[in-house]
Amino acid sequence: MDLLELCTLASGSSGNCALATDGRTHILIDAGISARRICRSLTDLGVEPRSVSGILITHEHSDHICGLATLTKQLRLPVYASRSTGRQLSYRIAFLEEVLRPFQPGEAFAVGDLEIGAFPTPHDTAGSCGYTVSDGRHKLAVVTDLGHVTEEVRAGIQGAALLVAEANHDVEWLQSGPYPYHLKRRILGDFGHLSNEAGADLVAEAVEGGARTVLLAHLSAENNTPARAYGVVSSALERRGVLPGRDVLLEVAPRSGPGPRRAVG
Ligand SMILES: [Zn+2]
Ligand SMILES: [Zn+2]
Repeated sequence: MDLLELCTLASGSSGNCALATDGRTHILIDAGISARRICRSLTDLGVEPRSVSGILITHEHSDHICGLATLTKQLRLPVYASRSTGRQLSYRIAFLEEVLRPFQPGEAFAVGDLEIGAFPTPHDTAGSCGYTVSDGRHKLAVVTDLGHVTEEVRAGIQGAALLVAEANHDVEWLQSGPYPYHLKRRILGDFGHLSNEAGADLVAEAVEGGARTVLLAHLSAENNTPARAYGVVSSALERRGVLPGRDVLLEVAPRSGPGPRRAVG
């Protein structure tokens, strides 16, 4: 039987998109880079863009949807989004209603052979979600764009063997950096983005719950570096007796190109 795999196509404040596939059902999570880049990356990964079964949208910020209008126009792929996010998308994308499959966060649903879970994330958009994708044996979870970790997030990612988790910024770098005050407030707030430290706590919990592969994602270009995010999270794991490389595969999702394909479970 084919393994469930995940591959990020792009990650960070300049664009987010990932592919989850079991070899038969291909699912995109977000479409925050150009449709051309998405199609090219899929083709490079051996996935015919037209064969994608659905696109799961976390929320309507442009770094998650900027390729969606062209992609839907060209390929008419089903788009799954919470009702509130779906409404926002319909304001922006003319023919979206034809392909939109709205859901209520908390409801599970199937896309092709894969089972999808969606849970609310605390972010400054109504209806933003994190997702899980399961083949019935193993589960992956994607959770970025959240200001803090809620019980719903914890419950949502429970049992995930592979976790894509936000490590957006270094708090000190952000505070002493050039961003205007209101933007700093937004990012650091309860509905902004997870810092490296907060991401590290979430990762540590997930690893204690059985996650064996962790991809750090949605890094800020100005207020973080891959080495910084990796260092903070790996130290937090080591303090709990978990050794990255031995007990868990810990990686940073590349900003502007596809990362490696990682098996789930
Ligand atoms: Zn984002
Ligand atoms: Zn966002």
